[in-house]
Amino acid sequence: MRRLVILGSTGSIGVQALDVVASTSGLEPVALSADRNWEQLVTQAEALNVRRIAIADPPSAESARSAWDGEVLSGPESLAQLISGADADLVLNAIVGSAGLAATVVTLSEGIDLALANKESLVVGGELVIELAAATGARLLPVDSEHSALYQLIASEQGQPPGTIERLTLTASGGPFRGRSRSELESVTVAEALNHPTWQMGGKISIDSATLMNKALEVIEAHQLFGTGYNAIDVVIHPQSIIHSMVSLADGSSLAHLGYPDMKVPIAYALHWPERASLGLRPLDLEELGALTFEPVDNEAFPCLRLAIAAGEEGGTAPCVLNAANEVAVAAFLDQRCSFLDIPATIEATLGDVTVQQSYSFETLIDADREARARAAEFLAALT
Ligand code: NDP
Repeated sequence: MRRLVILGSTGSIGVQALDVVASTSGLEPVALSADRNWEQLVTQAEALNVRRIAIADPPSAESARSAWDGEVLSGPESLAQLISGADADLVLNAIVGSAGLAATVVTLSEGIDLALANKESLVVGGELVIELAAATGARLLPVDSEHSALYQLIASEQGQPPGTIERLTLTASGGPFRGRSRSELESVTVAEALNHPTWQMGGKISIDSATLMNKALEVIEAHQLFGTGYNAIDVVIHPQSIIHSMVSLADGSSLAHLGYPDMKVPIAYALHWPERASLGLRPLDLEELGALTFEPVDNEAFPCLRLAIAAGEEGGTAPCVLNAANEVAVAAFLDQRCSFLDIPATIEATLGDVTVQQSYSFETLIDADREARARAAEFLAALT
């Protein structure tokens, strides 16, 4: 049995991971965590006979303690305690936002293999995270579907010889506003932005998909995971979300990873690696699909991709600043405190305002994240 810690088990990825655990064999959840959704977390723990959970929000942790007799950790060190005390073989980090970075660092520092859904860890602290994995020998298995696809195409044991990969292509569904002009995006609502055409996801990543910031974060994630230069990573809109990623090789061939959009596939791949579990999903039917279509990104209507690539190329703390400003702006949009187009405007203003440090430590990142959040909040406050 593989002993598994699931961080963010109450979220979209966390719940789907528990479905994978239930429908396949060999995985034993030993610890779970959430932010404040204590009732769902306790229900999950009881169903799985897990005796140790962590809840970030102290009042929610208190409620869980009074309702349940298992161990409830809370406070700043709780995730570190949960991870290091679990005797785990694998940690799934499905926390949303830069709040997931600390758990990534603790897991890799302990030399524990990490299934990483929390893309923000690699955006904010990419070089340090990759160095940490290399130093401790812990394996980093991406859960994002595009990066799982790339991992399977180039980084697994059957991967490509060094020097043969010329380009990576990430596909993007285009989100709910594909085809709209910038002026048509001025008055879109939160409900419209949350209505993703192909994926059912948590609120933050759904808004990121609507602005294309999700794809932008994924470009940085791919750069960090596979060491590919930004000028060799392409993004193409592919509304059917059947091709997840493609690799172009030196001999003119291209390899693509295909499948119906279902996050359980990359989750199961990461949790069961190097085995492949049978998920009972129907195979791809090309005749039924008929045609796959592709379009360029409209960078004027969706400026987040351009902003993220510029931040990625600048390096240092710039991606951390970009990510923090995005998190603040997305939260404001979800609370209806700003418009959809204020999201990229806030990110651009914050990037222009915060001084980027080229070399960084985890402490520097925490400072850069804090400063960027404060600047982004000031910018948003000035809009009203
Ligand atoms: P959700 O918002 O659905 O879930 C987030 C989880 O993290 C919840 O369990 C939440 O707890 C917990 N959480 C939130 N804030 C904190 C915090 N400050 N400290 C500790 N735990 C916290 O997110 P998703 O599942 O959609 O996404 C999770 C990650 O996976 C993101 O990084 C996302 O980009 C990535 N991802 C998601 C995909 C998807 O299909 N959803 C696809 C590919 C990547 P609570 O329930 O109490 O709020």
